[in-house]
Amino acid sequence: MAGVAARRHVGNLVSPPFYRFVLGPARRRRRAANTSLMETERWPFERQRALQEQLLRRLLAEAARTSPWYRERLPGEADLAHFGLDDLRRLPILERKDLQDHVEQITGTGRLASGVGENQSSGSTGTPVRIYQSREYFVWHAAETFRGLLMCGPIHPWTPRAYFWGNALQSREHRGLSGTVHDIMVNTLWFDAFSLRRDTLPETLRRLRAYRPRLIVGYMSIVMEVARALDRPLDGLDAIQTTAETITPQDRSVIESGFGAPVFNRYGTNEVGTIAQECHLHDGLHVVMENNIVEVVGPDGRPLTTPGAEGDVLITNLRNFATPLIRYRLGDVVRLGTDGCACGRGSARLESVIGRTSDIIVSPAGVLLHGLFFLKLFYGAPVLSFRVDQETPERLRLRVVPAARYSDEVRQRITSQILAHGDPRFEVVWEIVDEIPRSAAGKYRVTVNHVPRVTVARTETTPPAP
Ligand SMILES: [Zn+2]
Repeated sequence: MAGVAARRHVGNLVSPPFYRFVLGPARRRRRAANTSLMETERWPFERQRALQEQLLRRLLAEAARTSPWYRERLPGEADLAHFGLDDLRRLPILERKDLQDHVEQITGTGRLASGVGENQSSGSTGTPVRIYQSREYFVWHAAETFRGLLMCGPIHPWTPRAYFWGNALQSREHRGLSGTVHDIMVNTLWFDAFSLRRDTLPETLRRLRAYRPRLIVGYMSIVMEVARALDRPLDGLDAIQTTAETITPQDRSVIESGFGAPVFNRYGTNEVGTIAQECHLHDGLHVVMENNIVEVVGPDGRPLTTPGAEGDVLITNLRNFATPLIRYRLGDVVRLGTDGCACGRGSARLESVIGRTSDIIVSPAGVLLHGLFFLKLFYGAPVLSFRVDQETPERLRLRVVPAARYSDEVRQRITSQILAHGDPRFEVVWEIVDEIPRSAAGKYRVTVNHVPRVTVARTETTPPAP
C-alpha cells in the first residue's frame, strides 16, 4: 500500500503546478466558463431566467438553421426573436423514440462543426440513444462539473480524489504506466466501477484508505457497496458526491456512516450533463439553469409548477448545437422544489429525483454489474428497449423489444459478451416482448434483481472533469 500512499504524496507535489501552469492556461474557454458559472449561481432567480431566455433564443435559431427536424417544428425567424421561456410549452416534446429513430435528421448539419463528439444515452429506460455534442457543450459541461465539486466543499482541481466510475474503455485510460502518470498529475485514484467484485473489495478498501482522498465521486450503488464493506470511516475525507438516482434517507445514512463524510447528490445524464446538484444544506438539488431548462410535466404534458408536484422531466440543453435537445423527455420522474435556498444560490430546485433506480446484478462469482454494463452491451444493437431480470443467482432473463434488423446473431453476440465480461456461469434466457412496462410506481428500470438486497442505479458515463 506504500505505492498508493506515495502516489498521493507525489500527486500533491506535482498536481498544483500542473494545473496552474499547463492545464489551466490550455483550458482558456473552460476557465472562462468556470468564472461565469461562479458568478451566475449567485444571481437572483429572475435574472437566471432572463439568461436562459437569451440562450434559448440562440439555441432555437441555431436548431432552425442546422436541423431539418426542428425546421419543420419551430416557429419562423420573426417569432423566434421574441420567443420567451413561457412559449416553450407550445413546442412538441422530443421523445427518446424520436431521437433513436431520427437522430441524423434532428442533428442535420450540426454534426459537421469542429469539435463535435459522439455520445450515447445513459438513460434509465433501457432505450439506448446516440447523440452528437458540440465543443461548446463540452466546455460548459466541464465547468458545471467542476462547480458541482466546489459545492461539496472548498476544493481545488488538484484536491486528491477517488472515482468509482466508468466502463472498461474509460478505465483503460487509467491503466498502465501512462494511466498512472496521468492520474498522479491530476491527483486522482480511479476504480473501474464495472469491475468491482465482492471478493476483492477488501483490497479496494485498503487502496482507498492508503490514498486518503478528500473527495469521492461515484455511482450511488457502487459507493453504497463500498460503504457497507467499510469497518471504520476514512481519515481525511471531506465529501462524497454520488451521481443521482433515487437516494433514500436510509441510503444516505449507510454511505455517510460508512465513510464518515456527507453525501452530495448529483443528477445528470450523458445527453445533457448535470441537471441538478445538492449544496451543503442538502435541501433539494439546485438546477444548473445556465445550461439546462428543466420542465416538469404531468401525464397530459402540461408543465407543473407547484412545489412538491411530481412529473416527467423534460430538458432543453442550452449549450449543445450538434444534436439540439429541446423538451427532451429523459424518462425520469422528479419532484419539484422551491426556488431559492438559504445558501444564497438563486436557482430553481428539485426536491428529489424519484424514478431513477435499477438494481445491481451480482454474478455467481460475485462480480457487481449495474445497469450501465448492460446499456453498453446494447448500444448500437437493433433493439428498441430492454430489461434484465436476475431471477436466481445464475439466471438472467433479458426482455427485449426488437427493432427491424434484430436477429439471432444479435442475441448470440450479447449473450457471449455477458458471459465473457460478466460471468461465464450465467444462464441467459431471452424473451421477445412488445413493450417494457414501467413499475407500479411509474419507474423504468434497466435491471431488476430478484435475488439479494441492494437497490441501486446508474447515471452518466461521460468522464468527469476536471
Ligand atoms: Zn443551496
